Amino acid sequence: MSDNKIQGSGAAGGVQPVLVLNAGSSSLKYQLVVPETGEKQAGGTIERIGESGSDVADHSAALARMTDELRADGIDLRSVPLRAVGHRVVHGGPDFSEPVVIDDAVLDRVRELSALAPLHNPAAVTGIEAAREHFDVPHVAVFDTAFFSSLPPEASTYAVPRDLAEKHAIRRYGFHGTSHQWVSQAAAELLDRPLGELRQVILHLGNGCSASAVRGGVAVDTSMGLTPLQGLVMGTRSGDVDPGLHAYLGREAGLSLKEIDTLLNKKSGVLGLSGVNDFRELEKCLAGGDAEARLAFDVVVHRLKHYVGAYLAILGGIDVLVFTAGIGENSIALRAAVTEGLEGLGISIDRARNGARSKQARVISPQGSRVAVAVVPTNEELAIARQTAELVG
Ligand code: AMP
Repeated sequence: MSDNKIQGSGAAGGVQPVLVLNAGSSSLKYQLVVPETGEKQAGGTIERIGESGSDVADHSAALARMTDELRADGIDLRSVPLRAVGHRVVHGGPDFSEPVVIDDAVLDRVRELSALAPLHNPAAVTGIEAAREHFDVPHVAVFDTAFFSSLPPEASTYAVPRDLAEKHAIRRYGFHGTSHQWVSQAAAELLDRPLGELRQVILHLGNGCSASAVRGGVAVDTSMGLTPLQGLVMGTRSGDVDPGLHAYLGREAGLSLKEIDTLLNKKSGVLGLSGVNDFRELEKCLAGGDAEARLAFDVVVHRLKHYVGAYLAILGGIDVLVFTAGIGENSIALRAAVTEGLEGLGISIDRARNGARSKQARVISPQGSRVAVAVVPTNEELAIARQTAELVG
Protein backbone atom coordinates (compact mmCIF):
# COMPACT_ATOMS: atom_id res chain seq x y z
CA MET A 1 0.00 0.00 0.00
CA SER A 2 2.97 2.32 0.65
CA ASP A 3 3.23 3.38 -3.01
CA ASN A 4 -0.45 4.20 -2.92
CA LYS A 5 -0.67 6.20 0.28
CA ILE A 6 -3.47 8.61 1.01
CA GLN A 7 -1.96 12.09 1.12
CA GLY A 8 -2.99 14.90 3.41
CA SER A 9 -4.15 18.01 1.67
CA GLY A 10 -2.32 21.16 2.55
CA ALA A 11 -5.53 23.03 1.74
CA ALA A 12 -5.85 26.08 3.89
CA GLY A 13 -9.25 27.04 5.24
CA GLY A 14 -12.34 24.89 5.05
CA VAL A 15 -12.80 21.94 7.34
CA GLN A 16 -9.81 19.69 7.81
CA PRO A 17 -10.76 16.66 9.87
CA VAL A 18 -8.53 14.50 12.02
CA LEU A 19 -8.88 10.73 11.82
CA VAL A 20 -8.95 9.32 15.36
CA LEU A 21 -7.98 5.67 15.70
CA ASN A 22 -8.28 3.40 18.72
CA ALA A 23 -6.71 0.04 17.91
CA GLY A 24 -7.44 -2.94 20.14
CA SER A 25 -6.03 -6.40 19.66
CA SER A 26 -9.00 -7.52 17.58
CA SER A 27 -10.83 -4.26 16.91
CA LEU A 28 -10.31 -0.85 15.38
CA LYS A 29 -12.51 2.10 16.32
CA TYR A 30 -12.36 5.12 14.06
CA GLN A 31 -13.85 8.59 13.88
CA LEU A 32 -13.40 11.41 11.44
CA VAL A 33 -13.70 14.58 13.52
CA VAL A 34 -13.37 18.29 12.82
CA PRO A 35 -11.45 19.54 15.87
CA GLU A 36 -12.68 23.14 15.84
CA THR A 37 -16.39 22.48 15.50
CA GLY A 38 -16.51 19.04 17.08
CA GLU A 39 -18.41 17.80 14.03
CA LYS A 40 -18.21 14.01 13.77
CA GLN A 41 -18.22 13.32 10.04
CA ALA A 42 -18.17 9.54 10.33
CA GLY A 43 -17.25 6.75 12.67
CA GLY A 44 -17.37 3.03 13.18
CA THR A 45 -15.77 -0.09 14.57
CA ILE A 46 -14.13 -2.94 12.69
CA GLU A 47 -14.30 -6.08 14.79
CA ARG A 48 -12.90 -9.62 14.84
CA ILE A 49 -9.58 -8.56 13.30
CA GLY A 50 -7.31 -11.56 12.86
CA GLU A 51 -9.83 -14.02 14.32
CA SER A 52 -10.44 -17.35 12.63
CA GLY A 53 -13.24 -17.12 10.11
CA SER A 54 -12.94 -13.34 9.91
CA ASP A 55 -12.25 -11.76 6.52
CA VAL A 56 -10.27 -8.94 8.17
CA ALA A 57 -6.80 -10.49 8.46
CA ASP A 58 -4.94 -7.71 10.23
CA HIS A 59 -4.99 -3.99 11.07
CA SER A 60 -3.93 -3.07 7.55
CA ALA A 61 -6.94 -4.94 6.18
CA ALA A 62 -9.06 -3.20 8.82
CA LEU A 63 -7.95 0.20 7.53
CA ALA A 64 -8.83 -0.86 4.00
CA ARG A 65 -12.26 -1.91 5.34
CA MET A 66 -12.62 1.44 7.10
CA THR A 67 -11.82 3.25 3.85
CA ASP A 68 -14.54 1.21 2.10
CA GLU A 69 -17.06 1.93 4.88
CA LEU A 70 -16.31 5.63 4.66
CA ARG A 71 -16.73 5.57 0.89
CA ALA A 72 -20.11 3.89 1.36
CA ASP A 73 -20.93 6.82 3.69
CA GLY A 74 -20.05 9.21 0.86
CA ILE A 75 -16.59 10.10 2.21
CA ASP A 76 -13.66 9.45 -0.11
CA LEU A 77 -10.53 9.74 2.02
CA ARG A 78 -8.52 10.59 -1.09
CA SER A 79 -10.38 13.85 -1.47
CA VAL A 80 -10.80 14.66 2.22
CA PRO A 81 -8.27 17.26 3.40
CA LEU A 82 -7.06 15.00 6.21
CA ARG A 83 -4.95 16.98 8.65
CA ALA A 84 -3.51 14.18 10.76
CA VAL A 85 -4.22 10.85 12.41
CA GLY A 86 -4.57 10.83 16.21
CA HIS A 87 -3.95 7.49 17.90
CA ARG A 88 -5.20 6.55 21.33
CA VAL A 89 -2.36 4.83 23.18
CA VAL A 90 -3.11 3.35 26.58
CA HIS A 91 0.28 3.39 28.28
CA GLY A 92 2.82 6.19 27.99
CA GLY A 93 4.85 4.84 30.93
CA PRO A 94 7.24 7.27 32.62
CA ASP A 95 8.20 8.74 29.23
CA PHE A 96 5.19 10.51 27.80
CA SER A 97 3.41 13.23 29.73
CA GLU A 98 1.82 14.80 26.65
CA PRO A 99 0.86 13.95 23.07
CA VAL A 100 3.75 13.44 20.63
CA VAL A 101 4.18 13.30 16.89
CA ILE A 102 5.01 9.70 16.09
CA ASP A 103 8.38 8.88 14.54
CA ASP A 104 10.29 5.60 14.56
CA ALA A 105 11.84 6.32 17.95
CA VAL A 106 8.44 7.06 19.54
CA LEU A 107 7.00 3.90 18.04
CA ASP A 108 9.90 1.85 19.42
CA ARG A 109 9.33 3.31 22.88
CA VAL A 110 5.59 2.60 22.79
CA ARG A 111 6.46 -0.96 21.80
CA GLU A 112 8.92 -1.26 24.71
CA LEU A 113 6.20 -0.05 27.10
CA SER A 114 4.19 -3.17 26.22
CA ALA A 115 5.64 -4.77 29.37
CA LEU A 116 3.45 -2.33 31.35
CA ALA A 117 0.34 -2.82 29.18
CA PRO A 118 0.60 -6.22 27.49
CA LEU A 119 -3.08 -6.20 26.48
CA HIS A 120 -3.08 -2.72 24.99
CA ASN A 121 0.19 -1.29 23.72
CA PRO A 122 1.03 -4.07 21.21
CA ALA A 123 -2.33 -3.43 19.52
CA ALA A 124 -1.69 0.31 19.41
CA VAL A 125 1.69 -0.32 17.80
CA THR A 126 0.14 -2.56 15.17
CA GLY A 127 -2.53 0.03 14.47
CA ILE A 128 0.00 2.86 14.19
CA GLU A 129 2.23 0.86 11.86
CA ALA A 130 -0.65 0.07 9.54
CA ALA A 131 -1.94 3.65 9.60
CA ARG A 132 1.49 5.10 8.81
CA GLU A 133 1.55 2.85 5.76
CA HIS A 134 -1.89 4.08 4.69
CA PHE A 135 -1.81 7.79 5.45
CA ASP A 136 0.97 10.14 4.48
CA VAL A 137 0.06 12.74 7.12
CA PRO A 138 1.43 13.46 10.61
CA HIS A 139 0.53 10.79 13.16
CA VAL A 140 0.13 11.74 16.81
CA ALA A 141 0.00 9.50 19.89
CA VAL A 142 -2.31 10.64 22.69
CA PHE A 143 -1.68 8.72 25.90
CA ASP A 144 -4.31 7.60 28.40
CA THR A 145 -1.78 8.04 31.20
CA ALA A 146 -0.57 11.54 30.29
CA PHE A 147 -3.01 13.60 32.37
CA PHE A 148 -1.87 11.74 35.48
CA SER A 149 1.83 12.39 35.03
CA SER A 150 1.20 15.35 37.36
CA LEU A 151 0.40 13.14 40.37
CA PRO A 152 2.54 14.16 43.34
CA PRO A 153 5.03 11.51 44.51
CA GLU A 154 3.01 10.67 47.61
CA ALA A 155 0.09 9.69 45.36
CA SER A 156 2.05 7.93 42.62
CA THR A 157 4.46 5.95 44.81
CA TYR A 158 3.69 2.42 45.99
CA ALA A 159 5.26 1.47 49.32
CA VAL A 160 7.53 -1.22 47.87
CA PRO A 161 11.35 -1.20 47.85
CA ARG A 162 12.52 1.79 45.86
CA ASP A 163 15.24 0.04 43.89
CA LEU A 164 12.73 -2.52 42.62
CA ALA A 165 10.20 0.20 41.77
CA GLU A 166 12.83 2.14 39.84
CA LYS A 167 14.14 -0.89 37.99
CA HIS A 168 10.67 -1.94 36.80
CA ALA A 169 9.05 1.51 36.51
CA ILE A 170 6.48 0.59 39.18
CA ARG A 171 4.24 3.52 40.12
CA ARG A 172 0.66 4.67 39.87
CA TYR A 173 0.16 5.82 36.28
CA GLY A 174 -3.61 6.17 36.06
CA PHE A 175 -5.74 5.70 32.91
CA HIS A 176 -8.74 7.33 31.17
CA GLY A 177 -6.67 10.52 31.43
CA THR A 178 -7.97 11.96 28.17
CA SER A 179 -11.51 11.64 29.51
CA HIS A 180 -10.76 13.02 33.00
CA GLN A 181 -9.00 16.03 31.49
CA TRP A 182 -11.76 16.72 28.97
CA VAL A 183 -14.50 16.37 31.55
CA SER A 184 -12.77 18.56 34.14
CA GLN A 185 -12.52 21.36 31.57
CA ALA A 186 -16.08 20.86 30.36
CA ALA A 187 -17.38 20.97 33.95
CA ALA A 188 -15.68 24.33 34.51
CA GLU A 189 -17.31 25.64 31.32
CA LEU A 190 -20.69 24.28 32.40
CA LEU A 191 -20.43 26.05 35.75
CA ASP A 192 -18.93 29.14 34.12
CA ARG A 193 -16.15 29.14 36.70
CA PRO A 194 -12.38 29.30 36.14
CA LEU A 195 -10.86 25.80 35.97
CA GLY A 196 -7.94 27.06 38.04
CA GLU A 197 -10.21 27.66 41.04
CA LEU A 198 -12.03 24.34 41.12
CA ARG A 199 -11.48 21.26 43.24
CA GLN A 200 -13.14 18.42 41.40
CA VAL A 201 -13.82 14.73 41.84
CA ILE A 202 -14.46 13.05 38.50
CA LEU A 203 -16.09 9.63 38.27
CA HIS A 204 -15.56 8.02 34.85
CA LEU A 205 -17.93 5.05 34.96
CA GLY A 206 -18.05 2.95 31.81
CA ASN A 207 -16.92 -0.57 31.07
CA GLY A 208 -13.75 0.51 32.82
CA CYS A 209 -14.21 2.80 35.82
CA SER A 210 -11.88 5.30 37.45
CA ALA A 211 -12.05 8.23 39.83
CA SER A 212 -9.79 11.25 39.94
CA ALA A 213 -9.11 14.22 42.20
CA VAL A 214 -8.35 17.34 40.17
CA ARG A 215 -7.18 20.63 41.68
CA GLY A 216 -7.20 23.66 39.42
CA GLY A 217 -7.23 21.47 36.31
CA VAL A 218 -4.27 19.39 37.53
CA ALA A 219 -4.73 15.74 38.53
CA VAL A 220 -3.56 15.03 42.08
CA ASP A 221 -4.85 11.48 42.56
CA THR A 222 -6.60 8.71 40.66
CA SER A 223 -7.92 5.25 41.42
CA MET A 224 -6.29 3.24 38.63
CA GLY A 225 -2.67 2.38 39.18
CA LEU A 226 0.23 0.59 37.54
CA THR A 227 -2.45 -1.15 35.49
CA PRO A 228 -6.13 -0.38 34.80
CA LEU A 229 -7.12 -3.07 37.32
CA GLN A 230 -6.84 -1.01 40.50
CA GLY A 231 -9.57 1.04 42.14
CA LEU A 232 -13.29 0.97 41.45
CA VAL A 233 -15.39 -2.14 40.80
CA MET A 234 -15.84 -2.45 37.01
CA GLY A 235 -17.79 -4.58 34.53
CA THR A 236 -15.37 -7.50 34.68
CA ARG A 237 -12.49 -6.12 36.81
CA SER A 238 -12.31 -6.49 40.57
CA GLY A 239 -10.70 -3.15 41.30
CA ASP A 240 -9.10 -3.05 44.75
CA VAL A 241 -8.55 -6.36 46.50
CA ASP A 242 -6.20 -7.29 49.29
CA PRO A 243 -2.79 -7.61 47.56
CA GLY A 244 -2.43 -10.79 49.64
CA LEU A 245 -5.20 -12.35 47.55
CA HIS A 246 -2.73 -13.27 44.81
CA ALA A 247 -0.53 -15.37 47.08
CA TYR A 248 -3.59 -16.85 48.78
CA LEU A 249 -5.18 -17.95 45.49
CA GLY A 250 -1.87 -19.37 44.31
CA ARG A 251 -1.47 -21.35 47.49
CA GLU A 252 -5.04 -22.41 48.24
CA ALA A 253 -6.69 -22.56 44.80
CA GLY A 254 -3.58 -23.63 42.89
CA LEU A 255 -3.99 -20.86 40.33
CA SER A 256 -1.09 -19.61 38.23
CA LEU A 257 -0.23 -15.90 38.04
CA LYS A 258 -1.71 -15.79 34.55
CA GLU A 259 -4.94 -17.40 35.76
CA ILE A 260 -5.20 -14.95 38.66
CA ASP A 261 -4.61 -12.05 36.28
CA THR A 262 -7.38 -13.30 33.98
CA LEU A 263 -9.69 -13.95 36.94
CA LEU A 264 -9.34 -10.42 38.31
CA ASN A 265 -9.43 -8.67 34.91
CA LYS A 266 -12.04 -10.67 33.00
CA LYS A 267 -14.20 -12.65 35.42
CA SER A 268 -14.60 -10.42 38.45
CA GLY A 269 -16.28 -7.08 39.11
CA VAL A 270 -20.00 -6.82 38.43
CA LEU A 271 -19.80 -9.97 36.27
CA GLY A 272 -18.19 -12.04 39.01
CA LEU A 273 -20.74 -10.92 41.58
CA SER A 274 -23.93 -11.03 39.54
CA GLY A 275 -23.34 -12.99 36.33
CA VAL A 276 -23.85 -9.96 34.05
CA ASN A 277 -21.32 -7.26 33.23
CA ASP A 278 -23.41 -4.72 31.35
CA PHE A 279 -24.83 -2.16 33.77
CA ARG A 280 -28.17 -1.97 31.94
CA GLU A 281 -28.54 -5.72 32.44
CA LEU A 282 -27.64 -5.32 36.10
CA GLU A 283 -30.34 -2.69 36.51
CA LYS A 284 -32.90 -5.04 34.91
CA CYS A 285 -31.91 -7.80 37.34
CA LEU A 286 -32.20 -5.31 40.21
CA ALA A 287 -35.69 -4.36 39.14
CA GLY A 288 -36.58 -8.06 39.18
CA GLY A 289 -35.46 -8.35 42.82
CA ASP A 290 -32.31 -10.37 42.13
CA ALA A 291 -30.28 -10.58 45.38
CA GLU A 292 -26.92 -11.08 43.65
CA ALA A 293 -27.52 -8.03 41.48
CA ARG A 294 -28.39 -6.04 44.62
CA LEU A 295 -25.12 -7.03 46.29
CA ALA A 296 -23.14 -6.17 43.14
CA PHE A 297 -24.79 -2.74 42.94
CA ASP A 298 -24.15 -2.10 46.63
CA VAL A 299 -20.49 -3.11 46.35
CA VAL A 300 -20.05 -0.78 43.35
CA VAL A 301 -21.64 2.10 45.29
CA HIS A 302 -19.69 1.42 48.49
CA ARG A 303 -16.39 1.52 46.59
CA LEU A 304 -17.40 4.73 44.85
CA LYS A 305 -18.23 6.40 48.17
CA HIS A 306 -14.90 5.21 49.51
CA TYR A 307 -13.07 7.11 46.75
CA VAL A 308 -15.28 10.18 46.89
CA GLY A 309 -14.53 10.43 50.61
CA ALA A 310 -10.82 9.86 50.10
CA TYR A 311 -10.58 12.58 47.46
CA LEU A 312 -12.61 15.00 49.55
CA ALA A 313 -9.97 14.60 52.23
CA ILE A 314 -7.08 14.90 49.78
CA LEU A 315 -8.51 18.05 48.21
CA GLY A 316 -9.63 19.52 51.55
CA GLY A 317 -13.21 19.77 50.29
CA ILE A 318 -14.61 19.88 46.77
CA ASP A 319 -16.51 22.29 44.56
CA VAL A 320 -17.68 19.82 41.92
CA LEU A 321 -18.52 16.12 41.71
CA VAL A 322 -18.80 14.95 38.10
CA PHE A 323 -20.30 11.78 36.63
CA THR A 324 -19.28 10.72 33.13
CA ALA A 325 -19.09 7.77 30.64
CA GLY A 326 -21.80 5.19 29.85
CA ILE A 327 -22.92 4.46 33.41
CA GLY A 328 -22.14 7.86 34.89
CA GLU A 329 -24.03 9.68 32.15
CA ASN A 330 -27.03 7.34 32.11
CA SER A 331 -27.65 5.55 35.38
CA ILE A 332 -30.05 7.60 37.44
CA ALA A 333 -30.08 4.95 40.16
CA LEU A 334 -26.32 4.84 40.53
CA ARG A 335 -25.94 8.63 40.77
CA ALA A 336 -28.69 8.71 43.38
CA ALA A 337 -27.08 5.92 45.41
CA VAL A 338 -23.55 7.37 45.33
CA THR A 339 -24.70 10.78 46.55
CA GLU A 340 -27.20 9.49 49.12
CA GLY A 341 -26.42 10.45 52.72
CA LEU A 342 -23.63 12.88 51.79
CA GLU A 343 -25.62 16.03 52.63
CA GLY A 344 -23.33 16.64 55.62
CA LEU A 345 -20.47 16.96 53.13
CA GLY A 346 -22.41 19.46 51.04
CA ILE A 347 -23.21 16.86 48.37
CA SER A 348 -26.79 16.23 47.29
CA ILE A 349 -28.84 15.92 44.12
CA ASP A 350 -32.21 17.20 42.99
CA ARG A 351 -34.37 14.18 42.19
CA ALA A 352 -36.06 15.72 39.18
CA ARG A 353 -32.80 17.02 37.72
CA ASN A 354 -31.13 13.66 38.25
CA GLY A 355 -34.06 11.88 36.64
CA ALA A 356 -34.23 14.05 33.52
CA ARG A 357 -32.65 12.36 30.48
CA SER A 358 -30.35 14.50 28.38
CA LYS A 359 -27.26 14.22 26.22
CA GLN A 360 -26.05 17.65 27.40
CA ALA A 361 -23.75 18.55 30.26
CA ARG A 362 -25.97 19.51 33.19
CA VAL A 363 -26.05 20.25 36.90
CA ILE A 364 -28.12 17.83 38.97
CA SER A 365 -27.58 19.31 42.45
CA PRO A 366 -30.19 21.69 43.91
CA GLN A 367 -29.84 25.40 43.21
CA GLY A 368 -27.29 27.02 45.51
CA SER A 369 -25.62 23.78 46.70
CA ARG A 370 -22.17 24.08 48.24
CA VAL A 371 -20.94 21.31 45.94
CA ALA A 372 -22.16 21.24 42.35
CA VAL A 373 -22.97 17.71 41.19
CA ALA A 374 -22.83 17.48 37.40
CA VAL A 375 -23.29 15.00 34.57
CA VAL A 376 -20.81 15.77 31.79
CA PRO A 377 -20.67 13.61 28.65
CA THR A 378 -17.13 12.57 27.82
CA ASN A 379 -15.81 12.74 24.27
CA GLU A 380 -12.40 11.10 24.09
CA GLU A 381 -12.34 11.16 20.27
CA LEU A 382 -12.85 14.91 20.09
CA ALA A 383 -10.28 15.40 22.85
CA ILE A 384 -7.77 13.32 20.86
CA ALA A 385 -8.63 15.19 17.65
CA ARG A 386 -8.09 18.57 19.36
CA GLN A 387 -4.80 17.56 20.98
CA THR A 388 -3.63 16.16 17.65
CA ALA A 389 -4.58 19.29 15.72
CA GLU A 390 -2.93 21.51 18.33
CA LEU A 391 0.33 19.60 18.01
CA VAL A 392 0.50 19.51 14.21
CA GLY A 393 -0.71 23.09 13.76
P1 AMP B 1 -18.78 3.06 28.10
O1 AMP B 1 -17.58 2.18 28.37
O2 AMP B 1 -18.55 4.49 28.50
O3 AMP B 1 -19.32 2.91 26.71
O4 AMP B 1 -19.95 2.55 29.08
C1 AMP B 1 -20.50 1.27 28.95
C2 AMP B 1 -21.36 0.98 30.17
O5 AMP B 1 -22.39 1.97 30.26
C3 AMP B 1 -22.04 -0.36 30.10
O6 AMP B 1 -21.97 -1.02 31.34
C4 AMP B 1 -23.49 0.02 29.82
O7 AMP B 1 -24.39 -0.92 30.33
C5 AMP B 1 -23.61 1.32 30.56
N1 AMP B 1 -24.78 2.07 30.08
C6 AMP B 1 -25.02 2.56 28.86
N2 AMP B 1 -26.25 3.12 28.79
C7 AMP B 1 -26.82 2.96 30.01
C8 AMP B 1 -28.08 3.31 30.60
N3 AMP B 1 -29.02 3.92 29.90
N4 AMP B 1 -28.29 2.99 31.89
C9 AMP B 1 -27.35 2.36 32.62
N5 AMP B 1 -26.15 1.99 32.14
C10 AMP B 1 -25.88 2.30 30.85
